[in-house]
Amino acid sequence: MPQKTKNTPMMEQYLQIKAQYPDAFLFYRLGDFYEMFYEDATKAAQILELTLTSRNKNATDPIPMCGVPFHSASGYIDRLVEQGYKVAICEQVEDPKLTKGMVKREVVQLVTPGTVMEGKGLQAKENNFLTALAFDNQRYGFAYVDLSTGELKATVLNDEEAVLNEASILQTKEIVYATEIPEKLTQHLKQRLALVISEQLSTEENAELSYLSNQLPDALAKKATLHLLAYLSLTQKRSLDHIQQAQSYEVDHYLKLDYFSKYNLELQQSIRTGKKQGTLLWLLDETKTAMGGRLLKQWLDRPLIQESAILSRQAMVASLLQSFFERADIQAGLAKVYDLERLAGKVSFGNVNARDLLQLKQSLEQIPYLHHVLTGLDEGQWQGLLADLHPLDNLVTLIDQAINEEAPLQITEGNIIKTGYNEQLDQYRLAMKNGKQWLAELEAKEREQTGVKTLKVGYNRVFGYYIEITKANLVNLDTSRYDRKQTLANAERFITPELKKLEELILGAQDKSIDLEYQLFIEIREQVKTQIQTLQKLAKAVATLDVLQAFATVSERYQYVQPQFNTSAKLKIVDGRHPVVEKVLGAQTYIPNTVEMPEEVSMLLITGPNMSGKSTYMRQLALTIILAQMGCFVPAASAELPIFDRIFTRIGASDDLISGQSTFMVEMMEANQALRQATKHSLILFDELGRGTATFDGMALAQAIIEYVQAHVQAKTLFSTHYHELTALEEQLVGVKNIHVGATEQDGEVIFLHKMMDGPADKSYGIHVGKIAGLPESLIERASTILAKLEASEPQANLTLAQSANQKAASPQMEASNDKEIAEERLTVKEATTSTVSQTESKANQD
Ligand code: ADP
Repeated sequence: MPQKTKNTPMMEQYLQIKAQYPDAFLFYRLGDFYEMFYEDATKAAQILELTLTSRNKNATDPIPMCGVPFHSASGYIDRLVEQGYKVAICEQVEDPKLTKGMVKREVVQLVTPGTVMEGKGLQAKENNFLTALAFDNQRYGFAYVDLSTGELKATVLNDEEAVLNEASILQTKEIVYATEIPEKLTQHLKQRLALVISEQLSTEENAELSYLSNQLPDALAKKATLHLLAYLSLTQKRSLDHIQQAQSYEVDHYLKLDYFSKYNLELQQSIRTGKKQGTLLWLLDETKTAMGGRLLKQWLDRPLIQESAILSRQAMVASLLQSFFERADIQAGLAKVYDLERLAGKVSFGNVNARDLLQLKQSLEQIPYLHHVLTGLDEGQWQGLLADLHPLDNLVTLIDQAINEEAPLQITEGNIIKTGYNEQLDQYRLAMKNGKQWLAELEAKEREQTGVKTLKVGYNRVFGYYIEITKANLVNLDTSRYDRKQTLANAERFITPELKKLEELILGAQDKSIDLEYQLFIEIREQVKTQIQTLQKLAKAVATLDVLQAFATVSERYQYVQPQFNTSAKLKIVDGRHPVVEKVLGAQTYIPNTVEMPEEVSMLLITGPNMSGKSTYMRQLALTIILAQMGCFVPAASAELPIFDRIFTRIGASDDLISGQSTFMVEMMEANQALRQATKHSLILFDELGRGTATFDGMALAQAIIEYVQAHVQAKTLFSTHYHELTALEEQLVGVKNIHVGATEQDGEVIFLHKMMDGPADKSYGIHVGKIAGLPESLIERASTILAKLEASEPQANLTLAQSANQKAASPQMEASNDKEIAEERLTVKEATTSTVSQTESKANQD
């Protein structure tokens, strides 16, 4: 910012501080306001709808300025941070009354999207992760922390895709670069995930916290963690005792699902609304605590692949299912537990208030009860968790004795400490309340001792409290007990040590009691702080219990069964259901379906027209596997499963609008990922792969993909298709089995039963579907005639033409772009040529 006129000392100070925070709004404290200047002011005025004024209005170059009152600043800060900005809070760090000249000011905190500690930006059942990334020209060190809960984890990732995946799974808001990062990845992080990127290239600031990374085995993960911690120190500038030892994790130790698969399967977010309603998380979320809600999300993000770990969760769910009454007791107990994890964070952060401590107490009071109930049903499976359910009774006692149940939110207004906790405080309070009474008593006592009836206790502003005795009465009095204070014409005023003490008590009582209360509160807070680690362990145990009881609740409510695992690639789910569709439609309406894939069958080829239930069937399988590997029971009559290492999906039309790729291109990219990365322990779901391009083209690709999966991948695969011709592959390829959606005819109309059956589908469903959709009768008749004719003459092309026509009829809401594609299909069919993939791709790119 070029300056023409000379700046005032204050503006000099402002500019100096601002120079250190070029990418943040600087909230510069001036009296009761936070002021912003220059560009900050013009931008903030617009975003926050504030009035823009200026400093030095009459100068040639007035400085734009706007401000917010400090008592309502948090709302404005939240709004800026929510929109992806950073806010540097600059306070006066000296008492203006005690300083000559400029008051010293310092930035006391930098609030960023990844470091929100409170306010609207923080959802109870969601984590708020801040991530750091380090690159060594080959691999990426990746670390993340939730500042509000103190959770810190780190890993090493092999490629950009994995980084994007982790960042999107964690829904991280901000990413800290510890090294230079390739430009292409930065673009993706910014565009696809809308992340705020911050740089922290040195680790200078983290001396106090660096020990937290000691247990990480990999140098690159450690590097990311150290820079993350440095960034925290730099932005928070305060004690961060609640940040936990960094835990190393590996993405390979969990069931892998890329971001698009999670999206397509609607695990946490409905595709249509973007909300939780209608998702697997919505179904499962019977948690009673905020911590449980967050842990459930984490488990859903990372289902397990280690059998013993899955079985351990199952065993706990099973024991809860067998104990109906105990479960109800546990739920009632949990419902009274507040967010212990975030309370611990607030304690360490120093922004806990008396009500928070009361919440802590109430929460801790539930622990012995929960412990007792669980001990009752423990047959070995709960031991680990029970050990962490520490009641912290010393804290309960402390808070119970110290904190007033009706304490206000502010910790500087007094009235937070209970009477009886501190003798000094009690005296102050007594003084405030009883001052007059004491003076009267003293007066009476003195009158009695001296025999002077007119002796009185009085007060004036200069001399304070005094005992006044008229000169006449003084004559025969022994005044050695008294200190003379003031002489009047006809009276003397005295003070005694006793009165002096009363005076001190009365006069200082209010101020002193407030100060003392504040001090006592800080001491209590420090005592709580010493227990943070136990508290965090306890919080984790409570969260785990909460998620497990949610599993039990859901499993019982919808009659789920305990799945069995095998190592023989045998998959048999009898009468399985789609958990969410079942919940929405009701158990009576939902038609269960068996999925059976013996060891030797690796692919089910599913035929059937639109809306018959193919995609629901495929999703049902994926969700069942995810539930099973989370340790939950599953919606089926019985389930036997291998443990899967990865799930790939290509379901539905997920146009990647942001990166500007067409549906077909995304489809091919997703297929490519599956083909290259799947192992024989993976699950692949391909829903109508190839329909985004011309018919022959698509069919050719679909067949080649099926063949490739069979020859090179051997993953369990469900492949649904319109291309009836593909059903012939059952004869040619080992391990491919046809199934179809059953239908019956009633009064000349086809009704889909949503029931899977062996064998290929009847190919002429398309015309029937057209009929159901209400196409004119003459058109339907004409289509039947054409079909018959085509079938008689040129089998391949004919069928295809019939199919593509059916496809359109059956799905009037199909993507608009299809018109062009269908026109192209017609052309292709007519000329009976097959266009090449590269042509299609270049078309896709133009789209
Ligand atoms: P497709 O993939 O064959 O086009 P979907 O799987 O999208 O069909 O299913 C279409 C609709 O049919 C779903 O929205 C659902 O309401 C219903 N449906 C699917 N499967 C079942 C089932 N097993 N029981 C009851 N209704 C089902």
